[in-house]
Amino acid sequence: MNTLIFATNNQNKIEEVRKILNNQFNILSLKEAGINIDIPEPHETLEANALEKSSTIYRLTKGDCFSEDTGLEVFALNGEPGVRSARYAGEKASNEDNIEKLLRKMVDIEDRKARFRTIISLIINGKENQFEATCEGTILKERRGGKGFGYDSVFMPEGSFRSFAEMTIEEKNIYSHRKKAIKQLISFLQSV
Ligand code: IMP
Repeated sequence: MNTLIFATNNQNKIEEVRKILNNQFNILSLKEAGINIDIPEPHETLEANALEKSSTIYRLTKGDCFSEDTGLEVFALNGEPGVRSARYAGEKASNEDNIEKLLRKMVDIEDRKARFRTIISLIINGKENQFEATCEGTILKERRGGKGFGYDSVFMPEGSFRSFAEMTIEEKNIYSHRKKAIKQLISFLQSV
């Protein structure tokens, strides 16, 4: 089975992606690959940050790898928090701090449409390919559910009456941005 390094240590992302790949491909987290670094996200776009992560790992390993960068884009906030989703409330902000800031900013906003946007950067045989996918939905007025991570408790995808944090991984994967992007990656890998 082909092995790819997934340039993340976010265990939630690893579990979601492993469920989608369903043993078709073997993926290793950075820790499992013995790589102990914190890759910076210094750029102004998801695309550039995704490339930063995959190319950093490629330089270190010379092996096939991929990264993903995701942002939550709220239409009424002109796409905020976007590329700054992880550090919306400050450099060392927790998920809770970021959600708190978002709910405060949106307290008087009725148009609560938003989307998650994911960019995957795959490096295979030394060449980069990117895949993009989105999941549209709305920002809830308060947190709901205890599963998932990040902004899951305040995001309800279109077509559901539950937040991502009220869903199992399998249920989240019916709607998820990451699932759609990984599907593109799988099709690409099957074609090369
Ligand atoms: P990154 O892609 O790890 O840089 O994530 C950016 C921010 O978006 C972090 O605050 C994550 O917790 C959050 N995030 C990424 N993917 C998801 C998701 O699927 N659900 C909820 N929050 C997410």
